[in-house]
Amino acid sequence: EPEILGPEQHGIDPKLVSSNAVRVTSSLQEAGFEAFVVGGAVRDLLLGIKPKDFDIATNATPEQVKKLFRRAFIIGRRFQIVHVMFGQDLLEVTTFRGTATDHAPKDEHGRVLRDNTFGSQAEDAERRDFTINAMYYNPATQQVLDYHGGMRDMRAKLLRIIGQPEARYREDPVRMLRVVRFAAKLKFEIEPTTAAPIAVMAPLINNVPAARVFDEMLKLLMSGSALACLLQLRKAGLHHGLLPLLDVVLEQPLGFRFVTLALEATDKRIASGKTVSPGFLFASLLWHQVLEKWNAYQAAGEFPIPALHLSADEVLESQTEKLALQRKIGSDMRDIWAMQPRFERRNGKNPYKLLEHVRFRAGYDFLLLRCSSGEIDRELGDWWTAFYEADEFARAEMVSAIS
Ligand code: ATP
Ligand code: MG
Repeated sequence: EPEILGPEQHGIDPKLVSSNAVRVTSSLQEAGFEAFVVGGAVRDLLLGIKPKDFDIATNATPEQVKKLFRRAFIIGRRFQIVHVMFGQDLLEVTTFRGTATDHAPKDEHGRVLRDNTFGSQAEDAERRDFTINAMYYNPATQQVLDYHGGMRDMRAKLLRIIGQPEARYREDPVRMLRVVRFAAKLKFEIEPTTAAPIAVMAPLINNVPAARVFDEMLKLLMSGSALACLLQLRKAGLHHGLLPLLDVVLEQPLGFRFVTLALEATDKRIASGKTVSPGFLFASLLWHQVLEKWNAYQAAGEFPIPALHLSADEVLESQTEKLALQRKIGSDMRDIWAMQPRFERRNGKNPYKLLEHVRFRAGYDFLLLRCSSGEIDRELGDWWTAFYEADEFARAEMVSAIS
């Protein structure tokens, strides 16, 4: 028995609902099914923000959904969802899911491996993570169905897990990362009983498949509140499981400053609508790990360039296992790191060659972060800024002044 809220109670502006979301819900409803906008989109609508994507929940089965739309694809093996496409726009349509997790297969730590059963809308609401994520909006009636007091928590700016917190984190430890991300992004508080078990249960993240942790990390880092998220993670003790040794990095003043600056820059880029490369982000998060190894190899007599490559290999290898870093991201990271010593060689043709490197801009931005964090002398960054902006003639003068 959900609470039913009318437009004057929830205040959603129908103009913020994408026409394709209305198209999908009304097609389903005309075919005799129930259909609602659900999850993050409802949350955004209630905050007066235009949602970036719309998830739809329905009692139609994936097959039934597929039949109703010209370009619809059933995807996923773990649980099937339907992707409905209109031009560039993609909507995810999910069939209400059941709560029969008692009998669902689990790993030895209690993590649910598969739950494929369909269910009622009430059950679907119950298996969602937080109260503010379990509201359903029907564009046709402009009503919001609120099963777990989401509206109350929305007003109080509270993140509250649905059900028994320990059990919900055990079923899916990723929820611990999600609560931290939402808290930082929405500037909401985590309700005390929702927050309490996290410190103890944080190590469960280690049993989650790397690819899922990586997806969630990326969402966190791209949320526009990456720095706030990371500080929250640290407060919650969750950074241990995420990037091995990130905790160590954050304990060193230089490493902490470097990561802070990198994430601040990322958040700024996102705020101004620019893209962020995951390679750059992860290269930043792991730089001080690379740096430590680089110094150690050189102290042991290795030449700087091979020492850097060895260090990069080791760090990437240890992280690939943990994070399922995609090949492309790994090679971007390696490029950015490998470019760093080349910024020191400013004589002859060297600086011109570096300027032509396809990832020059990323490497240069990275160099500036190293300067700002105090790792290396400002002078080098300033020189490259001047060189980058100078004309041919001025560049030649700068290079001859070096040699
Ligand atoms: P955003 O897309 O802005 O990151 P979101 O809440 O839409 O936030 P999604 O990952 O898109 O997050 O998930 C959509 C909805 O699915 C959520 O709002 C929630 O109701 C449900 N959900 C997602 N992940 C989980 C989970 N791990 N456990 C339970 N429910 C989940
Ligand atoms: Mg979403």
